[in-house]
Amino acid sequence: MTKTDSEPDVLIIGAGPAGSCAAAKLAQAGITVAVIERQTFPRFAIGESLLPQCMDLLQDAGLLDAVESQDYQIKKGALFRRQDDACIINFEEQFHQSFNYTYQVPRAHFDQVLADQSARYGARFYFKHVVTSVDLASPRSTVSIKDPGGHTLIFKPRFILDASGYGHVLPRMLGLVKKSDFQLRSACFAHLDDDPGDAEYGKEYILIHINSREPDVWYWGIPFADNRTSFGLVAKQSFFSSLPEEPTDRLHAAIDSDPLIKQRFGQTEMVCEPGYMSGFAHSVNQMVGDQYAILGHSGEFLDPIFSSGVTVALKSAILASDALIKQFSGSDVDWQQEYSDELMRGVNTFKTYVKAWYDGSFQTVLFSDEKDAHWSSMVCSILAGYVWDRDNSLAVQHERGLQALTELCGIN
Ligand code: FAD
Repeated sequence: MTKTDSEPDVLIIGAGPAGSCAAAKLAQAGITVAVIERQTFPRFAIGESLLPQCMDLLQDAGLLDAVESQDYQIKKGALFRRQDDACIINFEEQFHQSFNYTYQVPRAHFDQVLADQSARYGARFYFKHVVTSVDLASPRSTVSIKDPGGHTLIFKPRFILDASGYGHVLPRMLGLVKKSDFQLRSACFAHLDDDPGDAEYGKEYILIHINSREPDVWYWGIPFADNRTSFGLVAKQSFFSSLPEEPTDRLHAAIDSDPLIKQRFGQTEMVCEPGYMSGFAHSVNQMVGDQYAILGHSGEFLDPIFSSGVTVALKSAILASDALIKQFSGSDVDWQQEYSDELMRGVNTFKTYVKAWYDGSFQTVLFSDEKDAHWSSMVCSILAGYVWDRDNSLAVQHERGLQALTELCGIN
């Protein structure tokens, strides 16, 4: 390895959407980038339903054409269902004027597409390499990396972007992990051999179905372009304790736990090993330091309910790369303001809606007929991920706006 290889301007930990998006943007600006990824690609990842806001962010990073040229399933919105109630969120009815569609993507393939395009822009990817320790220092930090042969490599970047997702590399090493505002929830999921065909919502809408007895237990169905559907459910641990422990039996029991879900998915076959995750909500008490920034899921993750994870990952990558491009060109950057506060502006909007989902008030808003077209279009844009839109009063004044909306729908 040459000195140029081991002394990149920026070292990125993780090649998920956040890592590859930042790598693409930086490499196109002539900044040298090394992306260290502990797994071999393609690899399974959860988080398959994108939001239209992702399209703007992918475009900004020069990655949209690569995504659009794949045969991914178009997503036009979501069907929320609770017993006999149904609410269709159609992205064409948005307040925000931008993309009104996005995709449902098998993440193994999608993450590979992003990494390949970033590599074409000049980012160097090191797969099967694991970041094992970081010593922050100026002008260059020291990052120890284990290569596939078990040897230790030393990289000395000027700046580190931690996009390690569930690895939470820097938050753990630097003691930055903060207790999340959300209760411990778990998820089990699998890909099913399933084509919704003429089912009530077709393939262009994801399904979010609320359990008929327990309103904070919900199921997702995300159809892909082939005859597979990603299926899963999110619930508190107490719900899972009542199901069998063996993963396949647990997923079957989860499908049987609700009559409409059983009717829809009861006859399907699993086409992969079921997965199970617990305690995915995550927060940090600091997202930036002099030599690093924490991106995507490694920093903040709320809950899967509104499919916000990849959107936040991509937004963090764009904000951090813009700040780095500015800094490397000799301008001052206020990282707290330009990165952390700006990212959290949108994350906090999502947070208000996630909290209201679980206290039941947003579910009542969704299924209410009392909202007019204007309110509905603003809610639609939030669910499309345009939470940073300063013109959408429901995004800017999220707590007050949602309160007004719940009152309008008859909830005090
Ligand atoms: P990741 O995609 O997690 O990528 C991080 C990468 O870092 C990984 O490839 C990992 O191997 C690598 N890494 C980790 N540690 C190291 C190390 N030490 N050295 C080198 N590499 C390392 N989001 C959505 O947008 N839509 C959804 O429908 C959705 N559904 C979800 C359902 C569930 C049940 C859960 C829990 C989450 C869901 N999410 C969803 C969230 C989504 O999974 C994440 O928010 C998203 O993948 C974050 O992207 P990222 O790039 O930050 O991290």
